[in-house]
Amino acid sequence: MMTARLCAITLLLSALLAGWTLPTIAAPVIVNDVTQINPIPVEEIAVPKTVDEVRELVRSHRGPISIGGGHFSMGGQTASEHTLHLDMRSLNRIVALSPETKTITVEAGITWRAIQEAIDRHNLSLKIMQSYSNFTVGGSLSVNVHGRYMGQGPLIGSVKAIKVVLADGDLVIATPTERPELFFGCIGGYGGLGVIVEATLDLADNVKVERTVRTMPVGDYTDFFVNTIKPSPTAIFHNGDIYPPAYDRVTAITWSATDKPVTVEDRLMPIQQSYWFDQLSYLWLSEFPFGKQFREYVIDPLRLRGDAVVWRNYEASYDVHQLEPRSRDTSTYVLEEYFVPISRFNDFVPKMADIFTRYHANIINVSIRHAVPDRGSIMAWAREEVFAFVVYYKQGTAPHDKTTVGIWTRELIDAVLSVGGTYYLPYQLHATEEQFHRAYPRATEFFALKQQVDPDNRFRNKLWDKYYHPPVRPAAAAPSSPDSAPTDQDVKKNFRP
Ligand SMILES: Cc1cc2nc3c(=O)[nH]c(=O)nc-3n(C[C@H](O)[C@H](O)[C@H](O)COP(=O)(O)OP(=O)(O)OC[C@H]3O[C@@H](n4cnc5c(N)ncnc54)[C@H](O)[C@@H]3O)c2cc1C
Repeated sequence: MMTARLCAITLLLSALLAGWTLPTIAAPVIVNDVTQINPIPVEEIAVPKTVDEVRELVRSHRGPISIGGGHFSMGGQTASEHTLHLDMRSLNRIVALSPETKTITVEAGITWRAIQEAIDRHNLSLKIMQSYSNFTVGGSLSVNVHGRYMGQGPLIGSVKAIKVVLADGDLVIATPTERPELFFGCIGGYGGLGVIVEATLDLADNVKVERTVRTMPVGDYTDFFVNTIKPSPTAIFHNGDIYPPAYDRVTAITWSATDKPVTVEDRLMPIQQSYWFDQLSYLWLSEFPFGKQFREYVIDPLRLRGDAVVWRNYEASYDVHQLEPRSRDTSTYVLEEYFVPISRFNDFVPKMADIFTRYHANIINVSIRHAVPDRGSIMAWAREEVFAFVVYYKQGTAPHDKTTVGIWTRELIDAVLSVGGTYYLPYQLHATEEQFHRAYPRATEFFALKQQVDPDNRFRNKLWDKYYHPPVRPAAAAPSSPDSAPTDQDVKKNFRP
């Protein structure tokens, strides 16, 4: 044994002395998302810095391609096996800013925060974005995101034009009237049709906003919203938080334009080195007995007491790191979202509450927002005026935890479909194909367009691997088949709520 080892060491040393290079085992290149539960090995990661580099990469690479922005989507929407992954975050310049016309043209890898830092000095604000500012413009367009803005809906409502690199490397401009199929397909198209490299967006004035807070029974919320918030000419941001575990009370928070002096001097939310207090609060809320009641009856009343007047840009510049736990090894925070026609709010809430309660889902918050109908994107989630239910929850990372979340998520999707609503696609891919097509009835039109502009199915990720089935798939680079998971019925047999 000893002699064999010595021999091996001697061989190794003589090989090194003779200048031989030893074969190396390359570590797999992994793309993951913020939840850390979707590691996907890819062939290579490229970081283009110019539009021409994107075009060259698309032209010269022969295999499939996946695209990532901030990687905050939560179900593998940014990657697929065997792909060249384009990390877009270095394509991040401001191309043009016109304070006169209140428009900005940016490269797609820029974050909202970087735009805010540039436009704030002109006292301008983004017209539509999410609640947090770390996301990239390309990722946000591809999801067609929304925020808490009153009178606005999906992001597409603020887009004048996009530039897209197609599967053959061509660069095209798409607007509602020029190549409209690409405009309405790429926005909300999850990188399935091409790489968005540039976008021109509408801006708004950066006004001061004043907070008002009202807590009420959940059954009163729709009337309150329709009679008080919707007609308000000054309401800028609005959301309602439904409190778990009872789901019977809402705290409605509205920020309205005002001339009053600010109570916070910062124009943008300062980026902190540590968010230990927020981390501790979320830990308490999600793990400790009565943590959720403590939030409802102690933390929130304290947090929301008194006058608050801030700049619009301040309220639009939250940092997602505020939500980041110390570790995501055994549990992780995740989002889901459901869209409900506003007249069906009171039908959906008890169905949702029943599902969360039966499965002991560890729900941290359900935030309600409002959206006006989409301008016409093919994969629209707001096909009429809707309330969005943004569900923030904590789950374990073990296989049985994932399975359980899959079961209650599919029940929730059925519940939202039963009230004429739909669910959101940037989160975990639990929906069956049948649910996906019921929720997105124009998906077949999107797939037909994909076949036309991306006939070799070059633009891939786990979302499209699951629901898009191209007629001819190149055998060498075919997407992996979905896991052969047990059916819901199998698992339900063993599940004791
Ligand atoms: C804490 C948190 C809060 C959130 N809040 C909201 C909210 O308030 N409202 C809301 O609507 N959503 C919200 N989301 C969801 C989030 O908006 C989306 O996941 C969004 O896509 C994130 O942007 P990103 O840059 O991380 O995109 P990524 O996750 O990197 O990408 C998303 C999709 O876009 C594609 N893509 C990325 N860049 C390009 C490009 N340049 N060209 C073509 N395709 C591209 C990717 O392939 C992928 O399919 C939230 C998510 C988190 C984690």
